[in-house]
Amino acid sequence: MTVTLAPPAPTPRIAAATDPLAVLGVPGEVNLDYAASAPCARAAADAVAELLPWYASVHRGAGALSRRCTLAYERARQTVGDFLGARPGDHVIFTRNTTDALNLLARALPAGTTVVTFAGEHHANLLPWPRGSVRLPVPAGPAEAVRALEAALTGLRRGADASTPVLVAVTGASNVTGERWPVAELTRVARRYDARVVLDAAQLAPHVPVDATALDVDYLAVSGHKLYAPFGAGVLLGRADWLDAAPPYLAGGGATGHVGSAPHEVRWVSGPARHEGGTPNLLGAVALAAVCQALADTDRDALHAHEQRLLARLRTGLAALPEAVELRTFGPDAPRVGIVSFVLAGRDSAEVAARLARDHRIGLRDGLFCAHPLARRLLAEAAGRSGRGDLPPTALRASIGLGSTSQEVDLLLTALGTLRW
Ligand code: PMP
Repeated sequence: MTVTLAPPAPTPRIAAATDPLAVLGVPGEVNLDYAASAPCARAAADAVAELLPWYASVHRGAGALSRRCTLAYERARQTVGDFLGARPGDHVIFTRNTTDALNLLARALPAGTTVVTFAGEHHANLLPWPRGSVRLPVPAGPAEAVRALEAALTGLRRGADASTPVLVAVTGASNVTGERWPVAELTRVARRYDARVVLDAAQLAPHVPVDATALDVDYLAVSGHKLYAPFGAGVLLGRADWLDAAPPYLAGGGATGHVGSAPHEVRWVSGPARHEGGTPNLLGAVALAAVCQALADTDRDALHAHEQRLLARLRTGLAALPEAVELRTFGPDAPRVGIVSFVLAGRDSAEVAARLARDHRIGLRDGLFCAHPLARRLLAEAAGRSGRGDLPPTALRASIGLGSTSQEVDLLLTALGTLRW
């Protein structure tokens, strides 16, 4: 049998051994696509490497290896819960990613729950919700978002089913524009109408501290691969009552307390295990916890300040390019994380992205970013604002984070300024 080998990979850049938040990468490859999947932090890689010799079952074995793995998994749960501000009694459930976490919550909603969300959400926070959910239009600014939610909740509570559960589902930061949503204000409104809140923190948590208690949100979802821990774990954190009353998300081993001989004779456990059927993703959980701990131990204000400087450099540089038009929902000065979407007038975004990759070894994202209603609307708004009739139908997105440098930003700006067709 002939085996075709792939060309030798470039030597990976191994981050400084002492910095747990240094990220792994490949020399010469400019990664400006953190919002899709961030690179792996040293802390995550080290935690996995350290545990691998011990790798064995979780919750299922009496041997030393298995007991150690069970302990590591449950410690990871504690660390991640602490990092995300879990309240006593909250469940911290390991999932595959944010999509999985929000789908889990959608399946756990009490019958008749109305979910209120905005059309500016990622598909993961638009599509799982039940029929009858309310989708509010993309607001022009944070204050309008708060007013729109208040109006929607007033209407719902005035209706015939004034006592039915209501869940407000909102993102912390947009994956298209990086703009931060007014989570604390939206939550205050929700509370007044006895509604619960789930925060899609997939794009917020990698950039700023996110604390469920401080924000007073009931549920929170994140993805490990966006948090520098690309080993396949995500998290749903939140109030226990709905989760313990719901059917298990995955029926199978680990979620059961007792299974009788008759079909359907089963007692499901409560707690996180109820929704973690099957063998859990130990390495994913441990990697995510290691990054959470490293972030908790670091000066996040300093990281944030550095990222904001790079972001300003990127946005200023884009503004200076005659064909570049930025996408935005809330206005140029709205607070945002390290994400910028833009188009080059007269240029196909997929072609620009391919040229950047091929000629400059710069990786960024093109398309509608799994937020089609929002991206289409922002493209139309950008066309109106810029007065250009030749904007492409899809956009480009550059995103940064730990390990990003001003040189990388400048390489992108130079490359965009010198693209020849
Ligand atoms: N929400 C937001 C805001 C996102 O950016 C993403 C990923 N792009 C998701 C949810 C879904 O995350 P995942 O693909 O990890 O499930």
